[in-house]
Amino acid sequence: MAKLNISDLDVKGKKVLVRVDFNVPIKNGVIGDDNRIVAALPTINYILDNGGSAILLSHLGRIKSDEDKKELSLKPVAARLGELLKKDVEFVPENEGSAVETAVKNLKPGEVVVLENTRFQDIDNDFGKRESKNDPKLGEYWAGLGDIFVNDAFGTAHRSHASNVGIATAMKAAGKPVASGFLIEKEIKFLGDAVSNPVHPFVTILGGAKVSDKIGVINNLIPKSDHILIGGGMAYTFLAAKGHKIGKSLFEEDKLELAKQLLAEAGDKLVLPVDSVAATEFSNDASHEVVGEDIPDNEMGLDIGPKSVELFKSILKDAKTVVWNGPMGCFEMPNYAEGTLEVGRTLADLTDATTIIGGGDSTAAAKQLGIAPKISHISTGGGASLEYLEGKELPGVACISDK
Ligand code: AMP
Repeated sequence: MAKLNISDLDVKGKKVLVRVDFNVPIKNGVIGDDNRIVAALPTINYILDNGGSAILLSHLGRIKSDEDKKELSLKPVAARLGELLKKDVEFVPENEGSAVETAVKNLKPGEVVVLENTRFQDIDNDFGKRESKNDPKLGEYWAGLGDIFVNDAFGTAHRSHASNVGIATAMKAAGKPVASGFLIEKEIKFLGDAVSNPVHPFVTILGGAKVSDKIGVINNLIPKSDHILIGGGMAYTFLAAKGHKIGKSLFEEDKLELAKQLLAEAGDKLVLPVDSVAATEFSNDASHEVVGEDIPDNEMGLDIGPKSVELFKSILKDAKTVVWNGPMGCFEMPNYAEGTLEVGRTLADLTDATTIIGGGDSTAAAKQLGIAPKISHISTGGGASLEYLEGKELPGVACISDK
């Protein structure tokens, strides 16, 4: 069933509590990349433009000690949000207690307040990790601050925390609405359609270091995809399962049997590289060459080779839905980046297909190429998008009310 969205609700005069994803890279108080703040703007603007006020909650980083709190305050994020919204944004350096309650009480329509990092609750008290262990009292407290709860943080939707599931549970118990924001709505639409209702041919491209990280996705998408293209370090365990020599390439011995089973189950659907760029050392400067399906004993495969690129392109050219997660090689090193960049360029050229990219490395490659505007959807949640593609129900999505 479709989920309730903020646009279904009348926010006029309402205090809207929004769980946003402001988990941005930050160093010495300087924000490295404000994409996630920008991605939250449509929901925040909708509330303000329609006569509501917004109380924003987010986590930032992982807090293990008091020392971490200095670097992981949301204060600079609130300042950046003010610049983007072109209005004053109040920051409360707490997320519980009288300062919060006063700020919320004084909040007028059109105004925004950002509360301090929700994960400060994980070390600040004697009760353990109140936020990430979903202490119901904390969820109840936050829920009491607003008339409506909107979850717009897809990046943490695979976690059951006080600031998403906890608040939603308490809001529903109090008879108040729980809706998605525009960002989560977009994520559900693109990832959900790809998983449950893809336009065919549907091609999944998986890469990255480990088979183990992607097993759930492969299992779920074998029956749904027309082709699954495998690159990156994970390809070598599959090549070994087919009896090829893989030299010093990445190899997960404990996944060999599983790789054999997946190959048997998927048949021709699973497409492996037919050549690799192989190097003598894990270094950009190491001597390297293009080799076929067998890798010499003293070499390791660090990228898919040109014939594999052509093979993948020939399959992708007819695709109508493409999901890509994980690099085709060690793309951080220029000599082994071409396979990943070529896959990115190919996706950008598919004007008649829905293209979806998830995962930090593939997203970084898309940005490096400047192709992001040509991709239908770049997911903001690494772990969350993988779990969605595995077919799992995400707690942060499940907790949103149905329409
Ligand atoms: P993941 O976090 O599983 O998506 O893996 C991403 C990492 O896998 C990147 O840092 C890549 O450098 C690395 N990687 C990709 N292909 C290979 C390969 N053939 N050998 C070793 N590492 C690889």
